[in-house]
Amino acid sequence: MHFTKRRTGWVDGEISQQVGCVAERDRFTCAIGARIPTVMFRAAASLALALFSSCSAAPEIPRHLVLVTIDTLRQDRIGAYGHLGAKTPHLDALAARGMRFDDAISQAITTPPSHASILTGLAPTTHGLTQLRGQRLSDGNRTLAEILSDVGFETAAFVSAIPLRRDVGLDQGFSSYDDDGLQWKNRTRSASETNDRVKRWLEPAHSERIFLWVHYFEPHFPYAPPEPYRSEFRQRDDPQEIKPLNGFGGDVELPRHVAEAASRLYDGEVAVGDAALGDLLASLAAAGILDDAIVAVVADHGESLGERGYYFGHWDVFDETARVPMVMARPDGRFAGTLIQGPVATTDLLPTLLAWLDVPLPPGIEGIDLTPDIERGGGDPRRIIYTERSQFMGPTIRSVRDGRWLVVHRKNAEPQFYDRRTGNEASVPAAEGDLLLAALEGYEASASATRSVPRKVSEKVAEQLRALGYAEDRLEESPNGDE
Ligand SMILES: [Zn+2]
Repeated sequence: MHFTKRRTGWVDGEISQQVGCVAERDRFTCAIGARIPTVMFRAAASLALALFSSCSAAPEIPRHLVLVTIDTLRQDRIGAYGHLGAKTPHLDALAARGMRFDDAISQAITTPPSHASILTGLAPTTHGLTQLRGQRLSDGNRTLAEILSDVGFETAAFVSAIPLRRDVGLDQGFSSYDDDGLQWKNRTRSASETNDRVKRWLEPAHSERIFLWVHYFEPHFPYAPPEPYRSEFRQRDDPQEIKPLNGFGGDVELPRHVAEAASRLYDGEVAVGDAALGDLLASLAAAGILDDAIVAVVADHGESLGERGYYFGHWDVFDETARVPMVMARPDGRFAGTLIQGPVATTDLLPTLLAWLDVPLPPGIEGIDLTPDIERGGGDPRRIIYTERSQFMGPTIRSVRDGRWLVVHRKNAEPQFYDRRTGNEASVPAAEGDLLLAALEGYEASASATRSVPRKVSEKVAEQLRALGYAEDRLEESPNGDE
């Protein structure tokens, strides 16, 4: 049973139409509407329309696909999503010439399972890669790279941190998978180094259609942006050392000046990632690829910056870690400047992108083609999306949410309901609560039926992951990785 497919029908009333092209029975019209968050965004969208839009033309089939995943990137720290302290001009420009989703939800708040969901269109309870370590994505899964490779795409991936090293199994379908140098002494690569590798790959001409996946790790802790970002985002009396703290459920709080310094430096890291995105897009333009490429940018999860006692990590399933930026731009300018309301899943990327590339969707994909939602400017606010926390960081936490409510199920506890508007525990109307609980139970049944593939990992690798801030002090393992 695939609960991510649950649709309860179209509900209007929470839709905001934006600046952009709207499809109506194969005809495009341009519209300028309300509810754009900033004047700057409105201006950028108008400019983008002038530069990129071909509103009267039929949609064309883009030739290439560029997927950029930015690790640990909170949605609410991006200019296009309304953050005033952001320095994210490239992501903002991409959103202006493309579309951004208001409520994109990641299926896992841990790097490998979340990326596996993006690349398979399946929830972790189905694809089976649920842990930070000790597992490999089963070969029985068919990845986006495999699907595109099978129809003639040249496929290449460039990753920037050890949780995505090839032995995790996300290399399936990539003819080139660059994780070089990600080892014990070098757990991560800078985005600029990863970009240098992409540029070398771009040097010879590529005649085939291309699927390029590039992963950046910058916003992940520690928050230590290089110059000139360090000077721009750091203040003179900021603490020299900032340490993560998991104070969930307790009364431990970090001093406010420490949390504020961390928050600013996090913005600095986000700015570095954004600059890398700009550099990448410039290289793709110079190589003659960008003009005919879909560009999709998404995060694998967000980050807690003090909410609920979680300081500087991604340890729980609340919105600050599960709600991610998701931006897509088509080369023909279709849907330019569109904001799409309503919950969507990062598993929806795969079917949406395949539809736009005119590649048949394999059976069994749980994500949905978002094109109809994009055309309407919104999806079903009652759609239910699943998110989990890897057991590696403590007992598995499972959750589902719709546009309004969140249900969190922790080990040895009753499910707890939260109002996403306030973040607080809340009473949920019985009918909606029953639907959410039924969906949660469905995922839990699916999880116990899914067999993961254990992979023996050395203690050295475990130490690397601890050093990245993942493991905390509770390293539990279960035989099937899904307790
Ligand atoms: Zn991650």
